[in-house]
Order: sequence, then structure tokens, then C-alpha cells
Amino acid sequence: MTPIAAASGPPVTPMMAQFLAIKADHPDALLFYRMGDFYELFFNDARQAAAALDITLTKRGKHNGEDIPMCGVPVHSHDQYLSRLIRKGFRVAVCEQTENPAEAKKRGAKSVVRRAVVRVVTPGTITEDALLDARANNYLAAIAEAQGALGLAWVDVSTGAFFAQASAPAHLAAQLARLKPGEILCPDILADRDDLADVWNDWRDVLTPQPAARFDSTNGARRLETLFGVKTMDAFGGFGRAEMAAAGGLLDYVELTQKGKLPRLSPLTRIAPGGVMDIDAATRRNLELSETLSGTRKGSLLATIDHTVTGTGARLLASRLAAPLTEVAEIEARFCDVQFCVDESHLRDDVRALLKRCPELERALSRITLGRGGPRDVAAVEAGLALSAVARALFDGKTASQGLQASLNGLGNHGELVAELAAALDDDLPLLARDGGFVRRGYRADLDELRMMRDESRRLIAALQTDYQADTRIGALKIRHNNVLGYFIEVPARHGDTLMGADGPYIHRQTLANAVRFATVELSELEGKIARAADAAVALEVEVFDALVSQVLAAADAVANTARALAELDVAFALADLAVVRRLTRATVDNSRDFVIEQGRHLVVEAALERGDGEKFIANDCLQDDDQGRLWLLTGPNMAGKSTFLRQNALIAVMAQMGSFVPCARARIGVVDRLFSRVGAADDLARGRSTFMVEMVETAAILNQAGDRALVILDEIGRGTSTFDGLSIAWAVTEHLHGVNRCRALFATHYHELNALQAKLSGLSCHAMKVKEWQGDVVFLHEVGPGAADRSYGIHVGQLAGLPAAVVTRAEQILQTLETGQQSSALTKLADDLPLFSHAPATVKAAFGPRPPSEAERAIKAVLPDEMSPREALDFLYALKAMECSD
Ligand code: ADP
Ligand code: MG
Repeated sequence: MTPIAAASGPPVTPMMAQFLAIKADHPDALLFYRMGDFYELFFNDARQAAAALDITLTKRGKHNGEDIPMCGVPVHSHDQYLSRLIRKGFRVAVCEQTENPAEAKKRGAKSVVRRAVVRVVTPGTITEDALLDARANNYLAAIAEAQGALGLAWVDVSTGAFFAQASAPAHLAAQLARLKPGEILCPDILADRDDLADVWNDWRDVLTPQPAARFDSTNGARRLETLFGVKTMDAFGGFGRAEMAAAGGLLDYVELTQKGKLPRLSPLTRIAPGGVMDIDAATRRNLELSETLSGTRKGSLLATIDHTVTGTGARLLASRLAAPLTEVAEIEARFCDVQFCVDESHLRDDVRALLKRCPELERALSRITLGRGGPRDVAAVEAGLALSAVARALFDGKTASQGLQASLNGLGNHGELVAELAAALDDDLPLLARDGGFVRRGYRADLDELRMMRDESRRLIAALQTDYQADTRIGALKIRHNNVLGYFIEVPARHGDTLMGADGPYIHRQTLANAVRFATVELSELEGKIARAADAAVALEVEVFDALVSQVLAAADAVANTARALAELDVAFALADLAVVRRLTRATVDNSRDFVIEQGRHLVVEAALERGDGEKFIANDCLQDDDQGRLWLLTGPNMAGKSTFLRQNALIAVMAQMGSFVPCARARIGVVDRLFSRVGAADDLARGRSTFMVEMVETAAILNQAGDRALVILDEIGRGTSTFDGLSIAWAVTEHLHGVNRCRALFATHYHELNALQAKLSGLSCHAMKVKEWQGDVVFLHEVGPGAADRSYGIHVGQLAGLPAAVVTRAEQILQTLETGQQSSALTKLADDLPLFSHAPATVKAAFGPRPPSEAERAIKAVLPDEMSPREALDFLYALKAMECSD
């Protein structure tokens, strides 16, 4: 570490003293210290930034006798450096000059220009388009605890979206996986809590612990009440104290990093418990909902179904996919919107073509409310609002669905504001207001006059050049301009003496190798005029800009509603477009426990096949109801399509409940409240757990948590261990799912022995991937049919892969013996007979004996009488009786 405090030793320069004082207030951020056209970094900041950005580390002056390391980034292109630093996990405090050097000089020749940190840039608080993904929200989340309960709140500073939800240690991981925050705040005491250690493990890089005092629930409630101008937060819904503490902590942090400024925030919206489908992190990963297992968006379900044409729409679609609904009425309402857009094909084309031209309204508004907006942001607001009126007009004479009607109302009426902004803003706009040149001619007479003066003087200067040329008879005489001298007359060196000697108006300023420069009183006077007019013009433009900004701010909430409404239109029409292009159908969603999908397809696999060799995707049924059973066992060889079938059904449930049409011929879905998907022996080396351990931890979570409204996808669970272990586990898991969880489940397994359970478990039904053997080849039909696979074809695949013939023959021999052995249930004898197991009979015995508790005994052990309804108790009794008979 570089010693930063200047305790003793040689005196520091006034500038370095200023730097050290500011840096002391921001120890955990890199300090971008503004010096002219650069942001400079010093000491350790410089070392870290130079390494992270791969830029040169230099030095400047000395501190305590040692060189001060320094590096810098140009102000005009600092965005890209900033974004790289933020992505690498740094926080950056941006320190600006708050007065100009001339003002500083007035206080004395040696005075340092005043500087102050105007903003701390952190991953969760960025607002620049260059630093943000246009199609994803960037949430800042906070977790707090009050009265023994956890609360979660999240805000997108770049859009103003603001939410809260109750939480609990068991739910937090799934909630965070849903939001994927760019930064997470929590009181330091929570960061150290053992029961949350696993949660933090996944988010270590973005976790910013804060002093616990910032999360006081009473303070939080008061801050929210002040912010929204209400007497009590009850008006917004029954927030728990922990939720308000979290929301308060968020506000505090945003103000802290924005140096007292808050962006416009939408009213805090509460996500009610159970209002959205619960999908934990592992399930999201396995199903590749918004990104693939390798972390890319491409190839995910989101990328495949996202037909939106605006960033705001894309973000809304992504958040709907992340949080499918559970209320039938709400889901149906979304279906009606999509249906309307499907039916209105011309309107759909028109609206989508229009929305394509819609600028990023939400984020422009947010920058404006933070005082960080420029003329282009105001123009984006104007264009977006103007477009919203056109969009509404497209619906004239049509009766839209209820949801869309609400969106149309949300578009609002901004005619006056649009007219004002359009009149004020020119077509070509600078990034910053202080650059001037953005106010349209004719908007302000006084501004036009100043500009005329400025331009007229420029014209006069050009005329002067001709005069001076005639006067001196030097054709090569030019009037030029640079930042040091301002305007000057320049003649080639050989003419220098002509002007120097004469007693004309020419005052010598500078002699260069091949040119001599002069000034005249006339020229300086004209220059002064130009400068004054230009300064005055820019000052007027800034004034105009501030006035426009105030008008936008006055309408900020309405503008935000418009942006939201445009996003809703975009999503509804995008889902309709998807439905038409990919041949989707409207599902029926109800409160039954059925899951009936006819001719279902996996959109992502289907699209991949189309892009590849054009192979056709084979559609398959998944018919889970009273008749066909709700626990489906699926067997079949590798590569037959088991995983695809499992996932496509989970994805159909997600798509339906987010309000989208679904890829199948017909669907009837009893609302799924919780979705689980597990893949056996998935690699999770990053977390440092054995794959089998992970598999078991995840399976345990399902068996402990899945209720009768859950949908469970198990893909080859029990594979990560020895065959007998694995088979036993798979067997027991199947029984538990059937008897205790009683959820809808699809279980793909290569243990075809499990099919024996069908005789015993009434709700279990067996299915297999159809395979055709043809001329010694195995052909996968990708078709799910009733029944069970009788063999795995593993040896066959091995043969195709080039295993030596002797090994294949021997393997077939062993397999045959094993299979005969199992049929006669002579497992122990089998093990003794076989060379393969001759050294390990004990293991085999350990796996299957001594006498395991009977199924009935296990069921009795597992049952919780306190939690049973009389009906369930009766059912249980019948089930016990059935087990007794079969045991
Ligand atoms: P399994 O889990 O049985 O090993 P997968 O589900 O991984 O098999 O499928 C293997 C490959 O088979 C997929 O990558 C896909 O190319 C193809 N496939 C799977 N299901 C289908 C289907 N229904 N129609 C056409 N091709 C399919
Ligand atoms: Mg598979």
C-alpha cells in the first residue's frame, strides 16, 4: 500500500493536499481526478487502473520522497474506460473541477481549482447507455432484516423501476437469481450470517455490505413516505418492515452515490407472496431461460422468443420471462392481449414498424431527472412522445383487449410538450448542452440575434483579410485562429519585415521558422465581439435547455407511463409475432393439477435443427392427468431425445404463465407454482462441490420443497454413483415424489428397472423414446411412446464409437448374465458368479441388505399427521394397505 496520509516529511503541494483530502472520503473507489481534458489517477488507484485498462503508468512529482504513480484517461472518451473498470468490479468516484481556473486565480496565484466528487459510479447505479445493456435491466438490490423477517427491494436507477418483496433465507437465492442484480447491498451483519453463506457465495463479486444503521426500518418508511409524498406507505400495499428497511437502504445508497440526487422513481410496487412462479437458480440455469449454461444470451429461451423491437420492450419481456405469473385471471388477460395482436395482422405490422423507430425513452428520462441529461436525451423524449400519439391513432376504430386498452390509456397526451420540444430543438444535436448549437433558429429572437452578431463578425473578419491583403499587397496574408493567440494575421517569413517596419496597424506577436504573426486593434475588437456573442449565445442556450428540462421534469411521471405503455405494446405485438412465425397456440390455464400438452415442441432445439441440416423436430405429447398419471417415467438410450422432451414441457409451462402462446397443438395447464429442474451429475466444479454431492443437495431440495402444484423435471438423477446406489436412490426418489410430494413430474432415467414400479404406483406411468433397429444401426425416432425401454443400447453406442470387438462381445455377455440375474432376483448370487463383482460382494450387500425397512415402514416414518387433512389421512391409509399387500 502506498502511504496516503501526509503525516510528516516534506510539505505536499496544494493540489496533492486537495487530492488526498478527497481520496480520504472515497477509500473504496478509484478516484477520477479531473485535470483539464483528463481524468487522472494517482498512487494505488493508478496502479490498479493501469493494470486493469492496460494503459501506461507514469509518474508525477514526489510524495514523501517517492515518485507518485499516475495514469489518466481522456475526458471525451472516458466512458469506455469507465465501463471496463465497472465490469471488472471497481467503483469509480468522478471528481470534477467545480470552478474554472480564472475563478481560482482570483483567490491568489497559487490557488488550486476547486474540485468535488459529483458521483460515485458503481455497477448498480450506472445510467449511461454505453455502460448498460439496452435489452436488460440493471438492478440494484438490497436485503434487510427487521423483526426476524427478511425483505428484498430492488431499483433500476436507469429506468426508475422500484420493487419490494418479502424474503426468507430459503427463498433469497431464487429471488436473486430471478433479478440478476448488478449490485447487491446488505447490512454487514447479514453478510456474515451462516445461513446465508451459500446465497452470498453466488453473488460475492457484486455484494456491497453497508453499515447496518442504513437499514433502519423506521427511517426507511419515513424516507419512502417523503419521497412519494404520502402520510403512510399503506397506500402502496402492505409492506413488511424488512421490505421498507431494504427500500430505505436502497434510497440512501443511491443518494450517497449520486451526491444527493435521486432519479425519478416509480411508486414502490410490492410483489405479493406466491404471485410469481418460484424458479430457483439451478432450474433457471438448467432450463437456459435467459442464458445458456455457457453464459451466453444466444441460444437461451429468451433469445429465441424475443421479437421485441425496442430496448424497453426487451427489458419488459425479459422480466416477464423471469417471473411467470400464478394467477389464472392475470395470465388469461395477457393471452387476450396477444390474441388481439395475432388477429390484427395489419395493425401488428404498422405498430411494430413504428416502434422500431422509438428511441430509448426510459433511460433518457432517468438521466434527465438525475441532472445528467443532454440535448439528445431531451430529443429522445420528444421523439418517443410524438411517436406514442401516432401509435394510439393506429388503434382508432378498434376495440382492443382490456390490457392493451389500459396501455393505450397509459400513453397519455403530450401534444403541448412535444410541440414545445420540437420547436426548440434543432435536428443535429451535441451531446452536452454547454457545447451549444442545439436550439432551433426562430425559437428565440434574442438568441438568433446573438448568433447573427457572432456570424456577422466572422464574416467581417473574412472581409478584413481581403482589406489587409490589398493594404500590404501580400496575397499570401491570412487571418487565422488558434487557442493560444486567438485571431491573428499570418504572413510568410519573407514578408515579415514589410509589416514589421511599417507604421501601419500591425503589431508583432510571434515569429516562427517560416511565418510571422501579427495582431491589429481592429481584429482584437472584432474578436472580442465574436467571443462575447458566442458566450452569450451559449449561455442563452443553456438557459433554454434548463427550461426544457424543467418542462420534462414536470411531466416526468406521465412520460414514464408512456414509456411503460410503449413497452407493453411492444411485448404484446412481439409475442403475437412470435406466435405467428413459430406456430404457437393459446393455452388454457386453470387451477387444476393437470398438465396436458399435445404435440409439444422445444422452440430452441427446433430453431437449431432448422438452422442446421433442416431436420424436422418431432412433436410429442405430455398428458398428465387423473387417467394418464402425473408422474411420468421416461426411458430410452442416449441421444434419443429425453432431455429435450423434459425441458420442452418445463419451458411450455414457463411460456404459458408469462403470458405467451406456446409451441404445441393444444395445451391445458393447471397453474404451476414452483418449477424444479435437475440434471444428474451436472458439473459444478466452480463451487467446489463433487458433482454427485450437488446432485443430491438439489434432489433433497426438491423432495423437501415441492408441493402438489409444483412441476418437477428430473433428468438422470442418481447417475453420479455406482449402479446399485444410483438405482436405489432413483427408486426411492420416485416413490417419494409419488406418495409425498404428489407433484407433476417427469423423470428421465436409464434405469429401466424403475419401470417395475408402474404396477405399484397408481399415478406413475411409463414412457419410452422410440428406437428402430435397422440393418444393425440404431435409429432414433425422437418419439415418446407408452411403455418402457427394455435396453439402453449403451453397448451398441460403444461399438459405434469404436470400442474393440472383444470388449463389446464381453460386455454383451455380462449384460445378458446381469439381466437374467435380475429377473430371477438372485442379485447376490449374481454378484458371486460374475468375475466383475467377485471381489466386492460386500458392497453389493451393503447396497441392498440387511433387510431394508419396508415401504410401508418408510411411509409411516415420513408422514406428518399434523399437516394432513382428514381426506389425506384416509388416502394414506389406503396407500398403506396397498403397500402391505405388495410387500
Ligand atoms: P437424451 O437426453 O435422450 O440423451 P437429447 O434430448 O439430449 O437426448 O437429444 C439429443 C439430440 O437429439 C438433440 O440435440 C436433438 O438434436 C435431437 N432431438 C431431440 N429431440 C428431438 C425431437 N423431438 N425431434 C428431433 N430431434 C430431436
Ligand atoms: Mg439427456
